[in-house]
Amino acid sequence: MRFRRTRHNLTSNMTTSGTSRPRVLSGMRPTGMLHLGNYVGALQNWVKLQSTHKCFFFVADWHALTTDYEDTSRLASNTLEVFLDWLGAGLDPKQCTMFVQSHVKQHAELHVLFSMVTPLGWLERVPTYKEQQQNMATKDLSTYGFLGYPLLQAADILIYQADGVPVGEDQVAHVELTREVARRFNQFYSRRGTSHEGAGEPAPPLIKEPQALLTKTPKLLGLDGRKMSKSYGNSILLSEEPGKLAEKIRGSVTDRPKLSDKGNPDRCPVGNLHQIFSDPERLAFITAGCTQASIKCIDCKAVAVESTEAHIAPIRERRKQFASQPDEVLRVIRHGAQEANAAAEETMQAVRRAVNLFSLESMETAIHRPAAPARIRVPETAASANSPEERYQLQTAGWLEKVSQANPLRKDKPQTFITRKGRKVGVHTAAENNGAWKFLISDRALNVLALLAEDRDRYLRDFILPPKLVQEHWKTFLRDEGNVVIEITANGKDVMLATSTGDVPIQQYEGDYSALQ
Ligand code: SF4
Repeated sequence: MRFRRTRHNLTSNMTTSGTSRPRVLSGMRPTGMLHLGNYVGALQNWVKLQSTHKCFFFVADWHALTTDYEDTSRLASNTLEVFLDWLGAGLDPKQCTMFVQSHVKQHAELHVLFSMVTPLGWLERVPTYKEQQQNMATKDLSTYGFLGYPLLQAADILIYQADGVPVGEDQVAHVELTREVARRFNQFYSRRGTSHEGAGEPAPPLIKEPQALLTKTPKLLGLDGRKMSKSYGNSILLSEEPGKLAEKIRGSVTDRPKLSDKGNPDRCPVGNLHQIFSDPERLAFITAGCTQASIKCIDCKAVAVESTEAHIAPIRERRKQFASQPDEVLRVIRHGAQEANAAAEETMQAVRRAVNLFSLESMETAIHRPAAPARIRVPETAASANSPEERYQLQTAGWLEKVSQANPLRKDKPQTFITRKGRKVGVHTAAENNGAWKFLISDRALNVLALLAEDRDRYLRDFILPPKLVQEHWKTFLRDEGNVVIEITANGKDVMLATSTGDVPIQQYEGDYSALQ
């Protein structure tokens, strides 16, 4: 018979979402109404992902402040515009979680904790750091917020234990940094925040390392042939009205300065629109006409207007419907914040425990808890040990001094000492398998008092196993050559006795060792 364990693994996607779909997270800065570049570069893909993945999509308003901290007057209205575009494009709050970053304060909390462990050099080496400072030379970006934005991004992703982050090639370095931050954080804190899956197995990580979901999205040139961007004034809005759409496309540059020139649709903004929005037949006709100079650009543009309008008209109409129901949009935002808060809080509870940050409530509970019976403490001499082995020997020696010498001690295994008085048994044992204590006792004993060393480097933790509980499960504990195997594991701040019916918390039974003296 095996001991049954209750398992709590934060990295499982079943825990919060109630679904086994892989988790994905992505965000957009609130720059106002989205343009077609935002749509084909990300949003279109998000709409597909929401039916196959558990998606968290957020408006990154704190990120906007990393570069635009001087004038925040349009932050709220821009956030709303982005939401309207998302809803218009087909993001469905029933299928995905849509929220505003600053509505989930846990992002900032995790960012602060990450900033404690992240070497400065990691951030200074981020390729976009210097590059963006040069590109935005008119802004003073010598701020901590700008240097630390990849770390805030790491917190955004890791707080949801995301499996994947949809990115283009240029964003892969950011995901790699995120993975490194997760690894470093886990190295420091993982063991203390999670349960242990089983003897001999490594503890599961506190924070999951996500993968970059490399997404090939079509490139979309702006009307002047450069990358489409609002700051270049060369964009077409996703919700562009038909008249304005036609006007903009008619005014676009082309790849054929003269009518007799042969062109290449790959290099032309209008050709680009055909590649994305025209059906295959139209695209073939335009491509042939352009490369052979058999159609006029003005005619090609008219067809591009038709194809683009056919695609964005339903988006524009849905957007208008949502815009006419502001309360409904606010309800979506509020609901998204609640869902995101619940998922983020699950991670943060484990993180706070792991970092030893306790809530006011738990401190109050500790203060008002009835005084524990006298406990056996490790002698100070253990602190002066030069090695874990020496410390362990000193701890053991101190323990032996305090327990009545009248009770003979038996050393069962190198790390386990047992003393008995009548039918009462005292055990001193060190953790052997990543926080799992396992020891054998004679099946004649009924009451078990255990003194547990957390590991060979740490002071003892002393507990008394509840005699009634031990008796209740006595027959079901695993037997090993006439002895009974008792197994205790750490589950976060709880210490659990493994029984046949599940794990039972035992830390409230703090040591009263008078029975042994
Ligand atoms: S024919 Fe069309 S794709 Fe070719 S250069 Fe003219 S506008 Fe661009």
